[in-house]
Amino acid sequence: MNDNNNPYSQLFQKQKANQFQVGNTSYKERIKKLKRLKHALEHTYKQEIRDALFADFKKPQLETDLTEIYPVVDEINFVKQELKTWLKRKQVGTPLAMLGSSSYIINEPKGVCLIISPWNYPINLTFGPLVSAIAGGNTVILKPSEMTPNTSKLMAKMVSALFDDNEIALVEGEVETAQALLELPFNHIFFTGSPAVGKIVMKAASKHLTSVTLELGGKSPTIVDETAHLEKAVRKIVYGKCTNAGQTCIAPDYVLLQESLKDEFVQHFRKEVKAFYSQNPEESTSYSRIVNNKHFERLKNSLDDAKDKGASIDAGGALNPSHCYIEPTLVSELTEDTSLMQEEIFGPILPLKTFKTLEEAVNYINSKEKPLALYIFSKSKKNTDYIINNTRAGGTCLNHNLLQYLNHHLPFGGSNNSGIGKSHGYFGFLEFTNQRSLLKQHTLGAVDLLKPPYTNWKQKLVD
Ligand code: NAD
Repeated sequence: MNDNNNPYSQLFQKQKANQFQVGNTSYKERIKKLKRLKHALEHTYKQEIRDALFADFKKPQLETDLTEIYPVVDEINFVKQELKTWLKRKQVGTPLAMLGSSSYIINEPKGVCLIISPWNYPINLTFGPLVSAIAGGNTVILKPSEMTPNTSKLMAKMVSALFDDNEIALVEGEVETAQALLELPFNHIFFTGSPAVGKIVMKAASKHLTSVTLELGGKSPTIVDETAHLEKAVRKIVYGKCTNAGQTCIAPDYVLLQESLKDEFVQHFRKEVKAFYSQNPEESTSYSRIVNNKHFERLKNSLDDAKDKGASIDAGGALNPSHCYIEPTLVSELTEDTSLMQEEIFGPILPLKTFKTLEEAVNYINSKEKPLALYIFSKSKKNTDYIINNTRAGGTCLNHNLLQYLNHHLPFGGSNNSGIGKSHGYFGFLEFTNQRSLLKQHTLGAVDLLKPPYTNWKQKLVD
C-alpha cells in the first residue's frame, strides 16, 4: 500500500507536522496532560469503564478497579514525581584525553508513535504505555483490540474528549486496521500481544527501521518445592490463575511441583477455589468469563485433547458455552504433545507436572522458550538461587505471582520470545525516548592536536 492510499496517512502526517510542538513541551505541560487522563480514569469515566468491561467479559467491578484503573493511575502518579528529573539534560563524564569538552545525555522524544494493545486488560495496556509516551513528549496513535468492542469504543470516546488528534488519536478496527497502520513510517511501535503477531509487527517495522517494544506472552512456569508453605502457595497460585479468568500474560501457566506434594496440592486447590468463588463459581460475581466463543472453543478443545490423551482432571472441569464459562480447572498426568503443555493457555486451566529433583524442573523450563514470568514458591535460598541462576525469564516473583507487574521501579517485559524492550516507570519512558548524546567542546583539546599531517611527534604522543 502506498502512503497516499493509506486510510491513516493523513492522521499520521498531521501528527508528524505537530511532533516538535508536542516534543518541546515542558515537564509541567506533560504532567497537565497526564492529570487530565488520571481524572478521566478516576472520576469522569470510571463507571463507564466498569460497565464496558462487564459488558465485554463480565469482568467484576473490583477487579476492573484493581487491574485496569489503579495500575494506570499509579503509573501516572509515579511519572508525576519523576518526570522533571528524567527530562533534565544529564551531564556524564568525559575522558581525560578529551580535556576541554563536556558531555551530556538528552532524552529526546522519538516522534510519532504507534501503540497496539490486546484485549485482556484493554484499559491498562492501552493507557499504560500512553503514559510513558506522553512523558517522553511524543504524538501517539492508539489501536486497541477488536475483541473487547465496548471498551475500545469507550476509549475512543475518552481519547477524543481529552486530546487533539494531531497529538493523540485512537483508531478502532480489526487486523486490517493494524496492518494499514503498520505500513506507516512510525518512529516507534509499542506492541502488546502474542509472540506470533509480535513477529508480524517486527517484520513490518523493519521496513522503516522503526524501533519496537514488544510485550509478548508465553508459558510462565511456577515451581513449588518441598520447602514451600503449600497452603499459602496454592492460594496465591489460584489467585494468579483465576484473576481475569486466567487471561493474563503473567498468569502462572503451569505448575512444576515436587512429587511428594501432589495430593496435598490438589486438596488445597479445591479448597481455595471454593473459598474464592463458592461451590459453584458459575454463580460467583467475582469470576470473569472467557472473552468470546473463539477463545472458549480453543480452551475447550485443549481440555478435550488432554482428556483424550489420558490426562486426569483433578479439580473443576465444568464448562458452559452459553456464556463462555470455564470453571477453575486443575489437570495432571499430561503428555507433552497436548496443546496445554505446548501453547500459552490464557484461561483458568492449570496443568500440574511433578518433578523429583530441581535439576529436572530447571531442565524442563530450559527446554522451552524464555518465559515472561517465572514464579518460585520456596523457603530455601539455596533452591531459589539455583533456579534463578540456571534459568532465564523476563521477570521473577518469589513466593507470590503477578505482583512484579505493580512495582514501577522494576522493568516489566520479556526476553526474546516473550518480548523485546521494557515498560513501566523510567524503563517505559526510555522506550519512548532516544538517548541523544551531546558533546560540547569549550577549548582546544588533546584530540585537536592529532589532526593531519601525522608527523612523528604526533605519533609519539599516542605511543
Ligand atoms: P494478539 O496478538 O492476537 O492481538 C494484539 C493486537 O494485535 C490486537 O490489537 C490485534 O488487533 C492486533 N493484531 C492481531 N493480528 C494482527 C496481525 N496479523 N497484524 C497486525 N496486528 C494484528 O493478542 P491478544 O489475543 O489480543 O492478546 C493475548 C496475547 O497477548 C497473549 O499472548 C498474551 O500473553 C499477550 N499479552 C502480553 C502482555 C505483556 O505485557 N507482555 C500483556 C497482555 C497480553
